[in-house]
Amino acid sequence: MTISADTQITAIFGDPVGHSLSPAMHNAAYAALGLDRAYVAFRVKRANLARALRAIPALGILGVNLTAPHKEAAARMLGRLSAEARLLGAVNCVVNRRGGLYGANTDALGLKLALGELRAEVRGRLAIVIGAGGAAASALLALARLGAEEIVLANRTPARAAVMVRRFARAGAGRCVLKARGLEALTDAALLKRAALILNATPMGLTTRSFAELDYGATARGCLFYDLVYAPEPTPFLRPAAALGRRHADGTGMLVEQGEIAFRLMNGAAPPPGVMRRALLGRLGRA
Ligand code: NAP
Repeated sequence: MTISADTQITAIFGDPVGHSLSPAMHNAAYAALGLDRAYVAFRVKRANLARALRAIPALGILGVNLTAPHKEAAARMLGRLSAEARLLGAVNCVVNRRGGLYGANTDALGLKLALGELRAEVRGRLAIVIGAGGAAASALLALARLGAEEIVLANRTPARAAVMVRRFARAGAGRCVLKARGLEALTDAALLKRAALILNATPMGLTTRSFAELDYGATARGCLFYDLVYAPEPTPFLRPAAALGRRHADGTGMLVEQGEIAFRLMNGAAPPPGVMRRALLGRLGRA
């Protein structure tokens, strides 16, 4: 890649941001398309987000992805939001449309596509989502759209799960029944037996050595375990599922899908099929 005076820029804002695999994915797509564009990472402190957003049109940046801790704050700062970003109260993709900023959220659609690729059969079934943060909200939306009949949110702080359930019930979760529980739901054998999917939307296993107590043996043979965390190794959440022979996948599929949607939004062109996925798997040592 040669940077010239004509090179156009896309970026990610986060703090920390050094761990982000998005530059590798987006720059691989630029190289494959022969576009004179570059995707860079900016470490933007929480207090500087408003100024950094204002710099996007000022510098002619085409668009930016947002990662922690900026997704919710940006939703409050931007005037124009996609319906999804408004419902989730979070923006992970900001597009510069002729100087006006438009906030979108590609996480729920990215997860829906990733689960579709895995042929996750949640229509008319129970799904258990572990967590009640921004990623869990995206999962809830994706699963409701995939036709889940019941979703149990199991969170360390049950009150936070209850708030999310009420918010989605008000926004209209369709026919889907939403329930809030604590992490003790993960040892409720009768509940686990009915689950078609158990999805981890917490950093447990990344930030802690072990995962919460979960009665893997009580799950049905066809239960799919999905971890939003992505790592070079099977994650602590997925390891026992793999040992039992249960279907399992980590969050690389979602990361690729949401990245491809963001690429289209920011560049007005589709990335060549498979390029962003190969770049990501290469970085994770799984190519
Ligand atoms: P968040 O808003 O900070 O939410 C964190 C959630 O995890 C909360 O429900 C919190 O419970 C729970 N939690 C944190 N530490 C815990 C612990 N030690 N034990 C039990 N529960 C714990 O984070 P987020 O933005 O939702 O992201 C969650 C995860 O999803 C992150 O690992 C992120 O990297 C991943 N993610 C992946 C993708 C992808 O494309 N694959 C996209 C988005 C996010 P409390 O409510 O009790 O605090």
